[in-house]
Amino acid sequence: MAFTDLSIAMDAKMLPIQEIAERAGIPGEALEQYGNYKAKINVDLLPPAENLGKVVLVTAISPTPAGEGKSTVTVGLADALKQLEESVMVALREPSLGPVMGVKGGATGGGFAQVLPMEDINLHFTGDIHAITSANNALAAFIDNHLHQGNALNIDPRRITWKRALDINDRALREVTIGLGGPAQGVPRQDGFDITVASEIMAVLCLATSLEDLKERLSLMVVGYTYQKEPVMVRDLGVEGALALLLKDAFKPNLVQTIEGTPAIIHGGPFANIAHGCNSLIATQTARRLADVVVTEAGFGADLGAEKFMHIKSRKGDFHPDAVVVVATVRALKMHGGIVKTELAEANHEAVRRGMVNLAKHVDTIRQFGIEPVVALNRFVTDTDAELAEIFSWAEAEGVQVALTNVWEQGGKGGLELAKLVLQEMERPKDFVRLYDETDSVEEKLRTIVQKVYGGADIQLTDAAQKQLAELKKFGWDELPICMAKTQYSLSDQPKLLGRPEGFTITVREIMPKLGAGFLVCLTGDIMTMPGLPKQPAALKMDVGADGKAIGLF
Ligand code: ADP
Repeated sequence: MAFTDLSIAMDAKMLPIQEIAERAGIPGEALEQYGNYKAKINVDLLPPAENLGKVVLVTAISPTPAGEGKSTVTVGLADALKQLEESVMVALREPSLGPVMGVKGGATGGGFAQVLPMEDINLHFTGDIHAITSANNALAAFIDNHLHQGNALNIDPRRITWKRALDINDRALREVTIGLGGPAQGVPRQDGFDITVASEIMAVLCLATSLEDLKERLSLMVVGYTYQKEPVMVRDLGVEGALALLLKDAFKPNLVQTIEGTPAIIHGGPFANIAHGCNSLIATQTARRLADVVVTEAGFGADLGAEKFMHIKSRKGDFHPDAVVVVATVRALKMHGGIVKTELAEANHEAVRRGMVNLAKHVDTIRQFGIEPVVALNRFVTDTDAELAEIFSWAEAEGVQVALTNVWEQGGKGGLELAKLVLQEMERPKDFVRLYDETDSVEEKLRTIVQKVYGGADIQLTDAAQKQLAELKKFGWDELPICMAKTQYSLSDQPKLLGRPEGFTITVREIMPKLGAGFLVCLTGDIMTMPGLPKQPAALKMDVGADGKAIGLF
């Protein structure tokens, strides 16, 4: 039988989670076990840390729909660093059932570079995402109950911006009508669903620094507007305490292990195309308290996850990455070189050469932040020597460091060269700069992202977005960072414009204030905050045996 991620994960021998906690220096009283191999960490009971560990951020080129192996490289790199006797931890996002059941697959790495127990982590894990869904929908219920019970706040039902949420791709729920059936069933109004990873509560949980901060952020979330067009916040409804209570355990980071027994924290899971794309700040900071080096990942290409890591997450946490790894694959380079998805397995070194422009742009982007990136060339068995040679000759000409990485097949051993380059880069002094200040105008911030990160020409705001911007300014909400919602396939807002498009304009069609998260979501192109399932969802291959074991989970 051919190896699959699931078969490799099931054959791997896991250590009891107490042993992993011991390795990480987590005292027994700070460990709340969820079975034998998962635990939550009570960060209040951790010993104080003298120094915080360094941060290695793993990002990628613009990906194919299958993903280019960021999670795989993140895990493999951490295992390689452990083999080099570094004190290291992994910090990753929690998988969402949307991609698990849909097209992309899970988010626990692959091959011999995985976090375990992969089937638990990919399905319900410790219930965090369900808790976020519950808190999100409890808030929706409180809003509708408020309307039904006399609407003391004078909320305009047509201007409620808070949507319901579900952690699955379900296009039929994008627009719904609720409250039908007469006065006893509430107030009829138009509503909609977002996927849970796009809920502001997910972002709040991922950026909060303490339970108190979580509650404060929840209280600031805007749920809609009154008939006088004044904003209504969670604190006006008085339910931030109830929401924080629903989230109290979800807020604690989860501890698991890699196949090679490296401690890993998996916590929070916003997508990088429709949300801010990084695991929770508390997970990264907890890992930094426990280890000298933390390897963490930001979703999709460097134009999305890494840009938001630099401008949102690390700004809130007041740190910056000490090294950045850009994952590239031959197949994605061929796609950017004009090859259709069904022919990516066929050798074509000229297409690789043409596609290098996409990787070059992402390398250039990381350099603009004052960090010299290391490219991890994630090797697939189908890669040919001629294709790999194209990448190495480009790297030599451009002075870019590249490590051929084979962690999928070999675990940490396949990432030793990458680990050595990362360690060198980590030690090098750097002048880190963010590309925009929060106090820049919204238009300036958008233009900076489009020109410097996407390589485009300009921005354009639709009439609706301009109106929203005027409102934002009126309420004094414009001095917040931007969270772009953009396709992951292209540097532009057109999924089919591959490679390194130039001269394009990005159209912002909606600007949504997320005051709890502390950013402004700008929707571009036809990106949706509730995705749909593909014609052949991954779910069709899934099953469970009579012994309770998962089947067909990638
Ligand atoms: P990303 O984090 O960039 O989305 P993942 O690490 O989740 O990507 O990998 C996506 C899928 O590709 C996983 O199923 C993984 O097993 C597979 N994969 C990654 N790297 C390799 C490789 N070098 N060879 C074969 N399959 C791989």
